[in-house]
Amino acid sequence: ESFEDLGVIAPICEACKNLKFKKPTPIQQQSIPLAMEGRDVIGLAQTGSGKTAAFAIPILQALWEKPQPLFACVLAPTRELAYQISEQFEALGSVIGLRCAVIVGGMDMMSQAVALGKKPHVVVATPGRLMDHLEHTKGFSLRGLKYLVMDEADRLLDMDFGPILDKLLLLIPVERRTLLFSATMTSKVEKLQRASLSNPVRVAV
Ligand code: AMP
Repeated sequence: ESFEDLGVIAPICEACKNLKFKKPTPIQQQSIPLAMEGRDVIGLAQTGSGKTAAFAIPILQALWEKPQPLFACVLAPTRELAYQISEQFEALGSVIGLRCAVIVGGMDMMSQAVALGKKPHVVVATPGRLMDHLEHTKGFSLRGLKYLVMDEADRLLDMDFGPILDKLLLLIPVERRTLLFSATMTSKVEKLQRASLSNPVRVAV
């Protein structure tokens, strides 16, 4: 099966071709159609499986259908992962005019506030710094958010981001789609899943 067969629009298929993605990986085969149908998805997949594009492609396609600032937020446990995710979004989404911001700890708050003021479509963030901006950056909110992704959820919880995630969930719309990716399904991930996903489908590779 090709990306076209999964219902991916031509400009994004073209971006995949440019990235030398010849065909969807197993996690992409399973997740992309479900996410495009509007389902919440739990993806059990390791780094290297192509999980980033598995959530980026359906989000970019939904964004292309109805462009909107602060459309999606991706939460990642580390700065390095946040930058990698944003690189994938930009590589796949530049063809549709994607604006993406990375909001991580250890970087200047002011320049991040300026970046958020430019109304990016996608924010890739570590939870603590995102919370700082939601509390302190004037004019910034996630009240219109359509997609939330929690990537490497097991690591997010191992790093004790659980209480911050609970607070963040109160500041984003209940009417959203949620995609959760994790290498393992632990009891903490189960609990987060029950608190944040609605009637999810589970896929595993
Ligand atoms: P990830 O699991 O998201 O960290 O992706 C691992 C690597 O696989 C990244 O370098 C991606 O660019 C690459 N990749 C993602 N999807 C595909 C695909 N369908 N075909 C070939 N490489 C891919």
